[in-house]
Amino acid sequence: MKQAGIVIEMENGRVKETSLGMITLAGRTADSLTAMVMSGITDDITDHLSEYGVHTIVDLSLPDAPEIRRNPAVQATAVVHAARELKLDRILGLSSPEGKDLLPRVAALLDAPLIMDCVDADLKTGTATTSQYSGKMMAKIQLTGEILMFGVRPNAVLPESKPVPAKTIAMTMDAVVPENIILLSRDEADTEGRQSLAEADIIIAGGRGLKNKDNFSLIFDCAEKLNAAPAASRVAVDEGWVPYAFQVGQTGEKVSPQVYIACGISGSIQHFAGMKTAKMIIAVNKDENTAMMANCDYQVQGDLFAILPEIMRQL
Ligand SMILES: Cc1cc2nc3c(=O)[nH]c(=O)nc-3n(C[C@H](O)[C@H](O)[C@H](O)COP(=O)(O)OP(=O)(O)OC[C@H]3O[C@@H](n4cnc5c(N)ncnc54)[C@H](O)[C@@H]3O)c2cc1C
Repeated sequence: MKQAGIVIEMENGRVKETSLGMITLAGRTADSLTAMVMSGITDDITDHLSEYGVHTIVDLSLPDAPEIRRNPAVQATAVVHAARELKLDRILGLSSPEGKDLLPRVAALLDAPLIMDCVDADLKTGTATTSQYSGKMMAKIQLTGEILMFGVRPNAVLPESKPVPAKTIAMTMDAVVPENIILLSRDEADTEGRQSLAEADIIIAGGRGLKNKDNFSLIFDCAEKLNAAPAASRVAVDEGWVPYAFQVGQTGEKVSPQVYIACGISGSIQHFAGMKTAKMIIAVNKDENTAMMANCDYQVQGDLFAILPEIMRQL
Protein backbone atom coordinates (compact mmCIF):
# COMPACT_ATOMS: atom_id res chain seq x y z
CA MET A 1 0.00 0.00 0.00
CA LYS A 2 1.39 3.37 -0.95
CA GLN A 3 -0.02 5.96 1.41
CA ALA A 4 0.74 9.40 0.07
CA GLY A 5 0.75 12.47 2.30
CA ILE A 6 0.49 15.74 0.41
CA VAL A 7 1.48 19.07 1.94
CA ILE A 8 -1.19 21.50 0.76
CA GLU A 9 -0.35 25.15 0.05
CA MET A 10 -3.09 27.74 0.41
CA GLU A 11 -3.53 31.23 -0.98
CA ASN A 12 -6.17 33.65 0.30
CA GLY A 13 -8.00 30.81 2.08
CA ARG A 14 -8.18 28.62 -1.04
CA VAL A 15 -6.20 25.56 -2.09
CA LYS A 16 -3.62 26.56 -4.70
CA GLU A 17 -4.22 25.13 -8.18
CA THR A 18 -0.65 23.86 -8.14
CA SER A 19 -1.46 21.79 -5.03
CA LEU A 20 -4.42 20.26 -6.90
CA GLY A 21 -2.08 19.28 -9.77
CA MET A 22 0.16 17.57 -7.24
CA ILE A 23 -2.86 15.62 -5.91
CA THR A 24 -3.62 14.48 -9.48
CA LEU A 25 -0.01 13.33 -9.93
CA ALA A 26 -0.03 11.39 -6.62
CA GLY A 27 -3.45 9.88 -7.39
CA ARG A 28 -2.08 8.14 -10.50
CA THR A 29 0.07 5.71 -8.51
CA ALA A 30 -0.77 5.96 -4.78
CA ASP A 31 -3.35 3.72 -3.08
CA SER A 32 -4.61 6.46 -0.78
CA LEU A 33 -4.18 10.22 -0.60
CA THR A 34 -3.94 12.23 2.61
CA ALA A 35 -3.88 16.01 2.43
CA MET A 36 -2.09 17.90 5.20
CA VAL A 37 -3.46 21.39 5.81
CA MET A 38 -1.77 23.70 8.29
CA SER A 39 -3.90 26.82 8.20
CA GLY A 40 -7.31 25.48 9.22
CA ILE A 41 -9.99 23.61 7.27
CA THR A 42 -13.33 24.89 6.02
CA ASP A 43 -16.13 23.01 4.21
CA ASP A 44 -14.98 24.65 0.98
CA ILE A 45 -11.47 23.29 1.43
CA THR A 46 -12.80 19.80 2.21
CA ASP A 47 -15.07 19.84 -0.86
CA HIS A 48 -12.29 21.10 -3.07
CA LEU A 49 -9.79 18.45 -1.95
CA SER A 50 -12.25 15.55 -2.13
CA GLU A 51 -13.27 16.65 -5.64
CA TYR A 52 -9.68 16.00 -6.76
CA GLY A 53 -9.37 12.57 -5.13
CA VAL A 54 -8.19 13.13 -1.55
CA HIS A 55 -9.42 10.40 0.83
CA THR A 56 -8.29 11.89 4.16
CA ILE A 57 -7.78 15.50 5.15
CA VAL A 58 -5.62 16.12 8.19
CA ASP A 59 -6.16 19.37 10.01
CA LEU A 60 -2.69 20.19 11.30
CA SER A 61 -3.69 23.70 12.34
CA LEU A 62 -0.81 25.52 13.94
CA PRO A 63 -1.44 28.50 16.27
CA ASP A 64 -2.28 31.55 14.15
CA ALA A 65 0.81 33.54 15.13
CA PRO A 66 3.10 34.24 12.16
CA GLU A 67 6.24 33.26 14.09
CA ILE A 68 4.70 29.81 14.60
CA ARG A 69 2.41 29.10 11.64
CA ARG A 70 4.85 30.50 9.06
CA ASN A 71 7.98 29.03 10.65
CA PRO A 72 9.16 26.17 8.36
CA ALA A 73 10.89 24.44 11.27
CA VAL A 74 7.58 24.27 13.17
CA GLN A 75 5.69 23.19 10.04
CA ALA A 76 8.24 20.42 9.50
CA THR A 77 7.59 18.95 12.96
CA ALA A 78 3.83 18.98 12.23
CA VAL A 79 4.30 17.12 8.92
CA VAL A 80 6.62 14.58 10.54
CA HIS A 81 4.09 14.05 13.35
CA ALA A 82 1.30 13.34 10.82
CA ALA A 83 3.55 11.11 8.67
CA ARG A 84 4.43 8.94 11.67
CA GLU A 85 0.92 8.82 13.17
CA LEU A 86 -0.74 7.94 9.84
CA LYS A 87 2.09 5.72 8.57
CA LEU A 88 2.51 7.70 5.38
CA ASP A 89 5.25 6.24 3.18
CA ARG A 90 5.26 8.83 0.37
CA ILE A 91 5.34 12.57 1.07
CA LEU A 92 4.82 15.21 -1.59
CA GLY A 93 5.04 18.98 -1.48
CA LEU A 94 5.54 21.72 -4.04
CA SER A 95 9.01 22.83 -5.17
CA SER A 96 7.80 26.35 -4.42
CA PRO A 97 9.69 28.87 -2.26
CA GLU A 98 7.75 27.57 0.78
CA GLY A 99 8.33 23.94 -0.22
CA LYS A 100 12.05 24.52 -0.65
CA ASP A 101 12.12 25.77 2.93
CA LEU A 102 9.96 22.99 4.35
CA LEU A 103 10.61 19.70 2.50
CA PRO A 104 14.36 19.35 3.18
CA ARG A 105 13.65 19.89 6.90
CA VAL A 106 11.03 17.12 6.84
CA ALA A 107 13.44 14.86 4.94
CA ALA A 108 16.17 15.47 7.51
CA LEU A 109 13.86 14.74 10.45
CA LEU A 110 12.55 11.54 8.82
CA ASP A 111 15.93 10.57 7.40
CA ALA A 112 14.09 10.11 4.09
CA PRO A 113 15.44 10.63 0.53
CA LEU A 114 13.98 13.67 -1.28
CA ILE A 115 13.98 14.71 -4.96
CA MET A 116 13.05 18.32 -5.66
CA ASP A 117 11.66 19.85 -8.85
CA CYS A 118 9.99 16.65 -10.11
CA VAL A 119 7.88 16.95 -13.24
CA ASP A 120 6.65 13.37 -12.88
CA ALA A 121 6.70 10.70 -10.18
CA ASP A 122 5.64 7.08 -9.81
CA LEU A 123 4.90 6.52 -6.14
CA LYS A 124 4.66 2.72 -6.57
CA THR A 125 8.17 2.28 -7.95
CA GLY A 126 9.59 5.30 -6.11
CA THR A 127 10.92 6.91 -9.29
CA ALA A 128 10.75 10.54 -10.32
CA THR A 129 11.69 12.63 -13.34
CA THR A 130 13.48 15.90 -12.67
CA SER A 131 15.52 18.38 -14.69
CA GLN A 132 19.26 18.51 -14.10
CA TYR A 133 22.27 20.62 -15.10
CA SER A 134 20.20 23.75 -15.59
CA GLY A 135 17.59 21.91 -17.60
CA LYS A 136 20.09 20.47 -20.12
CA MET A 137 18.83 16.97 -19.38
CA MET A 138 15.99 15.17 -17.68
CA ALA A 139 16.94 12.48 -15.17
CA LYS A 140 14.83 9.58 -13.95
CA ILE A 141 15.81 8.83 -10.37
CA GLN A 142 14.99 5.87 -8.16
CA LEU A 143 14.54 6.47 -4.45
CA THR A 144 14.80 3.70 -1.91
CA GLY A 145 13.81 3.62 1.73
CA GLU A 146 10.75 3.31 3.92
CA ILE A 147 9.54 6.85 3.40
CA LEU A 148 10.20 8.60 0.07
CA MET A 149 9.76 12.33 -0.59
CA PHE A 150 9.03 14.29 -3.76
CA GLY A 151 9.08 18.06 -4.36
CA VAL A 152 6.82 18.64 -7.36
CA ARG A 153 7.40 21.52 -9.79
CA PRO A 154 4.32 23.80 -9.64
CA ASN A 155 2.11 23.42 -12.72
CA ALA A 156 3.96 20.29 -13.92
CA VAL A 157 0.63 18.43 -13.88
CA LEU A 158 -2.79 19.88 -14.62
CA PRO A 159 -5.44 19.13 -11.96
CA GLU A 160 -8.04 16.53 -12.98
CA SER A 161 -11.33 16.15 -11.12
CA LYS A 162 -11.72 12.68 -9.54
CA PRO A 163 -14.35 12.97 -6.78
CA VAL A 164 -14.14 10.63 -3.79
CA PRO A 165 -15.66 10.84 -0.31
CA ALA A 166 -13.18 12.36 2.15
CA LYS A 167 -12.90 12.14 5.91
CA THR A 168 -11.32 14.79 8.09
CA ILE A 169 -9.00 14.16 11.02
CA ALA A 170 -7.98 16.86 13.49
CA MET A 171 -4.46 16.36 14.75
CA THR A 172 -3.49 18.76 17.46
CA MET A 173 0.07 18.97 18.61
CA ASP A 174 2.12 21.30 20.73
CA ALA A 175 3.92 23.64 18.37
CA VAL A 176 7.54 23.54 19.43
CA VAL A 177 9.31 26.68 18.27
CA PRO A 178 12.98 25.77 17.92
CA GLU A 179 15.31 28.05 19.84
CA ASN A 180 17.80 28.27 17.00
CA ILE A 181 15.37 29.51 14.32
CA ILE A 182 13.23 32.50 15.24
CA LEU A 183 11.11 34.15 12.56
CA LEU A 184 11.55 37.89 13.15
CA SER A 185 9.42 39.28 10.32
CA ARG A 186 8.01 38.54 6.87
CA ASP A 187 7.72 41.19 4.18
CA GLU A 188 5.29 40.07 1.49
CA ALA A 189 6.43 41.05 -2.02
CA ASP A 190 4.28 43.79 -3.55
CA THR A 191 2.65 41.87 -6.41
CA GLU A 192 0.04 44.60 -7.06
CA GLY A 193 -2.57 41.94 -7.75
CA ARG A 194 -0.50 40.18 -10.41
CA GLN A 195 -0.74 36.38 -10.71
CA SER A 196 2.07 34.38 -9.18
CA LEU A 197 4.50 33.11 -11.82
CA ALA A 198 4.41 29.53 -10.54
CA GLU A 199 0.61 29.43 -10.76
CA ALA A 200 0.08 31.19 -14.08
CA ASP A 201 -1.31 29.32 -17.10
CA ILE A 202 0.10 31.94 -19.47
CA ILE A 203 3.33 33.89 -18.98
CA ILE A 204 4.63 36.70 -21.17
CA ALA A 205 8.26 37.55 -20.50
CA GLY A 206 10.51 40.37 -21.68
CA GLY A 207 14.28 40.52 -22.00
CA ARG A 208 17.03 42.90 -23.10
CA GLY A 209 15.11 43.43 -26.34
CA LEU A 210 12.72 45.69 -24.40
CA LYS A 211 15.64 48.16 -24.12
CA ASN A 212 14.45 50.06 -21.02
CA LYS A 213 12.15 50.12 -18.01
CA ASP A 214 9.44 52.27 -19.61
CA ASN A 215 9.08 49.88 -22.54
CA PHE A 216 8.30 47.06 -20.12
CA SER A 217 4.79 48.53 -19.93
CA LEU A 218 4.26 46.71 -23.26
CA ILE A 219 4.73 43.40 -21.43
CA PHE A 220 2.41 44.48 -18.59
CA ASP A 221 -0.30 45.65 -21.01
CA CYS A 222 -0.11 42.44 -23.05
CA ALA A 223 -0.21 40.38 -19.84
CA GLU A 224 -3.39 42.14 -18.77
CA LYS A 225 -5.07 41.49 -22.13
CA LEU A 226 -4.03 37.83 -22.09
CA ASN A 227 -4.81 37.30 -18.39
CA ALA A 228 -1.16 36.28 -18.14
CA ALA A 229 1.60 36.80 -15.60
CA PRO A 230 4.42 39.15 -16.67
CA ALA A 231 8.00 37.87 -16.30
CA ALA A 232 11.55 38.76 -17.29
CA SER A 233 15.02 37.51 -18.10
CA ARG A 234 17.83 38.17 -15.67
CA VAL A 235 19.18 41.00 -17.82
CA ALA A 236 15.89 42.89 -17.40
CA VAL A 237 16.07 42.34 -13.65
CA ASP A 238 19.75 43.26 -13.35
CA GLU A 239 19.06 46.46 -15.32
CA GLY A 240 16.45 47.35 -12.69
CA TRP A 241 13.54 47.34 -15.17
CA VAL A 242 11.50 44.91 -13.01
CA PRO A 243 11.96 43.40 -9.51
CA TYR A 244 13.70 40.07 -8.93
CA ALA A 245 10.35 38.35 -8.28
CA PHE A 246 9.79 38.48 -12.08
CA GLN A 247 12.94 36.58 -13.02
CA VAL A 248 12.59 33.21 -14.72
CA GLY A 249 15.58 30.91 -14.99
CA GLN A 250 18.28 29.02 -13.22
CA THR A 251 18.61 31.66 -10.53
CA GLY A 252 14.98 32.75 -10.72
CA GLU A 253 11.57 31.09 -10.75
CA LYS A 254 11.08 27.67 -12.41
CA VAL A 255 7.77 27.71 -14.28
CA SER A 256 5.67 25.24 -16.30
CA PRO A 257 2.80 27.27 -17.77
CA GLN A 258 0.55 26.16 -20.62
CA VAL A 259 1.98 28.97 -22.76
CA TYR A 260 5.25 30.92 -22.39
CA ILE A 261 5.74 33.93 -24.67
CA ALA A 262 9.38 35.10 -24.74
CA CYS A 263 9.78 38.62 -26.15
CA GLY A 264 13.27 39.91 -26.91
CA ILE A 265 14.87 37.02 -25.01
CA SER A 266 17.71 35.16 -26.71
CA GLY A 267 17.22 31.84 -24.88
CA SER A 268 20.36 31.32 -22.82
CA ILE A 269 20.81 27.96 -21.09
CA GLN A 270 20.15 29.72 -17.79
CA HIS A 271 16.84 31.16 -19.01
CA PHE A 272 15.70 27.84 -20.49
CA ALA A 273 16.46 26.20 -17.13
CA GLY A 274 13.44 28.02 -15.75
CA MET A 275 10.87 27.60 -18.55
CA LYS A 276 11.89 24.61 -20.64
CA THR A 277 8.95 22.56 -19.36
CA ALA A 278 6.33 25.07 -20.58
CA LYS A 279 3.75 23.17 -22.65
CA MET A 280 3.99 25.68 -25.53
CA ILE A 281 6.74 28.24 -26.17
CA ILE A 282 6.19 31.22 -28.45
CA ALA A 283 9.22 33.35 -29.34
CA VAL A 284 9.07 36.96 -30.49
CA ASN A 285 12.50 38.00 -31.72
CA LYS A 286 14.01 39.99 -34.57
CA ASP A 287 16.90 37.51 -34.97
CA GLU A 288 15.88 34.12 -36.33
CA ASN A 289 19.20 32.56 -35.24
CA THR A 290 18.66 32.77 -31.49
CA ALA A 291 18.27 29.67 -29.31
CA MET A 292 14.76 30.76 -28.28
CA MET A 293 13.65 30.87 -31.94
CA ALA A 294 15.25 27.46 -32.60
CA ASN A 295 13.64 25.81 -29.59
CA CYS A 296 10.10 27.16 -29.59
CA ASP A 297 6.78 25.83 -30.88
CA TYR A 298 5.83 29.04 -32.70
CA GLN A 299 8.02 31.95 -33.71
CA VAL A 300 7.19 35.49 -34.65
CA GLN A 301 10.19 37.05 -36.34
CA GLY A 302 10.38 40.82 -36.27
CA ASP A 303 10.55 43.92 -34.12
CA LEU A 304 8.69 43.39 -30.85
CA PHE A 305 7.83 47.11 -30.77
CA ALA A 306 5.67 46.51 -33.85
CA ILE A 307 4.50 42.99 -32.97
CA LEU A 308 3.30 43.46 -29.37
CA PRO A 309 1.06 46.49 -30.14
CA GLU A 310 -0.40 44.53 -33.08
CA ILE A 311 -1.09 41.50 -30.83
CA MET A 312 -2.90 43.84 -28.41
CA ARG A 313 -4.88 45.40 -31.24
CA GLN A 314 -5.95 41.94 -32.43
CA LEU A 315 -6.92 40.90 -28.90
C1 LIG B 1 25.18 31.63 -13.05
C2 LIG B 1 24.24 32.34 -13.96
C3 LIG B 1 22.89 32.31 -13.68
C4 LIG B 1 21.98 32.94 -14.54
N1 LIG B 1 20.64 32.88 -14.25
C5 LIG B 1 19.77 33.41 -15.14
C6 LIG B 1 18.36 33.31 -14.92
O1 LIG B 1 17.89 32.78 -13.90
N2 LIG B 1 17.52 33.84 -15.86
C7 LIG B 1 17.98 34.44 -17.00
O2 LIG B 1 17.15 34.90 -17.80
N3 LIG B 1 19.30 34.57 -17.20
C8 LIG B 1 20.20 34.10 -16.30
N4 LIG B 1 21.53 34.27 -16.52
C9 LIG B 1 21.95 35.17 -17.62
C10 LIG B 1 21.97 34.51 -18.99
O3 LIG B 1 23.23 33.91 -19.21
C11 LIG B 1 21.75 35.55 -20.10
O4 LIG B 1 22.69 36.57 -19.99
C12 LIG B 1 20.36 36.19 -20.09
O5 LIG B 1 19.36 35.20 -19.97
C13 LIG B 1 20.14 36.97 -21.36
O6 LIG B 1 18.95 37.72 -21.25
P1 LIG B 1 18.18 38.21 -22.56
O7 LIG B 1 17.82 37.03 -23.38
O8 LIG B 1 17.12 39.13 -22.09
O9 LIG B 1 19.29 39.11 -23.29
P2 LIG B 1 20.10 38.84 -24.61
O10 LIG B 1 20.79 37.54 -24.58
O11 LIG B 1 20.95 40.05 -24.84
O12 LIG B 1 18.98 38.73 -25.74
C14 LIG B 1 18.22 39.81 -26.17
C15 LIG B 1 17.38 39.34 -27.36
O13 LIG B 1 16.48 40.36 -27.75
C16 LIG B 1 16.38 40.34 -29.16
N5 LIG B 1 15.93 41.68 -29.56
C17 LIG B 1 16.59 42.86 -29.43
N6 LIG B 1 15.83 43.88 -29.86
C18 LIG B 1 14.67 43.34 -30.33
C19 LIG B 1 13.48 43.86 -30.90
N7 LIG B 1 13.33 45.19 -31.09
N8 LIG B 1 12.50 43.01 -31.25
C20 LIG B 1 12.62 41.67 -31.05
N9 LIG B 1 13.73 41.11 -30.51
C21 LIG B 1 14.73 41.94 -30.13
C22 LIG B 1 17.78 39.99 -29.65
O14 LIG B 1 17.72 39.44 -30.97
C23 LIG B 1 18.19 38.96 -28.59
O15 LIG B 1 17.88 37.66 -29.02
C24 LIG B 1 22.46 33.65 -15.67
C25 LIG B 1 23.82 33.68 -15.94
C26 LIG B 1 24.69 33.03 -15.10
C27 LIG B 1 26.16 33.06 -15.43
